[in-house]
Amino acid sequence: MKSQTVINTFVEKTGAYVAAQLEACTRCGMCAEACHFYQSSGNPEFAPVWKIELLRRAYEQRFTPVGKFKVAFKLDKPVTDEDIAHWSFIDYQACTMCNKCSMVCPMGINLGPLIHTVREGLSDAQAVPADLKAAVNKQEEIGSPLGVTDDVFDSRIEWVADEWEIEMPMDVKGADTLVVFSSIEIMKFPNNLAAIAKILNAAGEKWTLSKKGREVVNFGFYEGNDKLTKEFMNRVFSAAKELGVKKIVVTECGHAYDALRWTSANLMDVPEIEITHIAGLLGEYVKSGRIKLKPGALDGNGTITFHDACKIQRRGSHIQEPRDILNILAPKSFREMTPNKEESICCSGGGGVIAIKEADPIRYASFELKIDQVNKVGAKTVAMACSNCRLQFTDCVQHFNLDWKVAGLSQLVADALVE
Ligand code: SF4
Ligand code: SF4
Repeated sequence: MKSQTVINTFVEKTGAYVAAQLEACTRCGMCAEACHFYQSSGNPEFAPVWKIELLRRAYEQRFTPVGKFKVAFKLDKPVTDEDIAHWSFIDYQACTMCNKCSMVCPMGINLGPLIHTVREGLSDAQAVPADLKAAVNKQEEIGSPLGVTDDVFDSRIEWVADEWEIEMPMDVKGADTLVVFSSIEIMKFPNNLAAIAKILNAAGEKWTLSKKGREVVNFGFYEGNDKLTKEFMNRVFSAAKELGVKKIVVTECGHAYDALRWTSANLMDVPEIEITHIAGLLGEYVKSGRIKLKPGALDGNGTITFHDACKIQRRGSHIQEPRDILNILAPKSFREMTPNKEESICCSGGGGVIAIKEADPIRYASFELKIDQVNKVGAKTVAMACSNCRLQFTDCVQHFNLDWKVAGLSQLVADALVE
């Protein structure tokens, strides 16, 4: 029975920390308004606290006298397979793991990781949406959810190097920095590859790509599958160790950054290699003068705004660097959306949601909040440092027929380099 598998996983994962968090919830409901899926639908089942209800019920029924009493006297029903199907829907399709809800909880409950624990139970019970599971399987089998095999990687990199006439070093032992792209960039935004290479070369960085560690996206993390999450991270870490690099740069992908930089340390022994995000590196280059940008290069094309990615800005704190850059590139036309920075709302496509076709109506409905924010600021260009957000924005621009330009931060920097 799926429900028994889920319960067993919850019991295994419920140590003192998880138990204390579950006990601390006062059911005040304040987290609901923080969630873009709840805000855009008004559906109480999309409230963050409801997304962890399955975990809470399992905890209460298994570990507390009150819970045992309730089950014995039929005051509470045991978790059923129908419940599993319901929570699979709300926790995979109506949650991007953005963790904004944690910021408003007066009890300091870290809801995002608890929802991730629910996903772990659902993963063990094989209650994962089919589209998401297919992408996970593809990453396991060929190394990439978007079909970036060794040969595809070679030919894409060769093509980018030729097309943009740019050096793309591959498998260089002794390089300082390993740069790992996401397959979204490789397959959908190849100009990002060229842009990042151009910037690194201009900064005089001793960098390399790796065929073995070519994919930074981690669909095992989206699924809540610890075994595969580790396996996918290991591909990057072992490539980094073999090449002897001192630093790994995650390019424009937010969840991959969270997984590789923070989650990895909770799952496995990680090598002592610095991990940073391209947004942080760009900020460092500009601050230190390793690259110079044309001031005002983006002014004169209408208002430009910046979308903060949950895992890069809220989680990763790379809040100031994009603003420093945009204040150089567009001092007259950069304007902030509201809310912004760590309080920004998610694009609605993260956490694997964009990979699940069935979730499209929820994803589009939630994006309307973003449309409202961008329109209020009157922006014609929306910049961001996450290619998953960029994919969501690009898709929604088409879906809603919006007249915005969607741009990656690295691309804007590369286009404005003083050579
Ligand atoms: S993590 Fe984000 S998407 Fe998920 S429940 Fe919390 S606010 Fe909503
Ligand atoms: S805001 Fe915190 S305490 Fe209130 S319902 Fe949500 S998780 Fe529980």
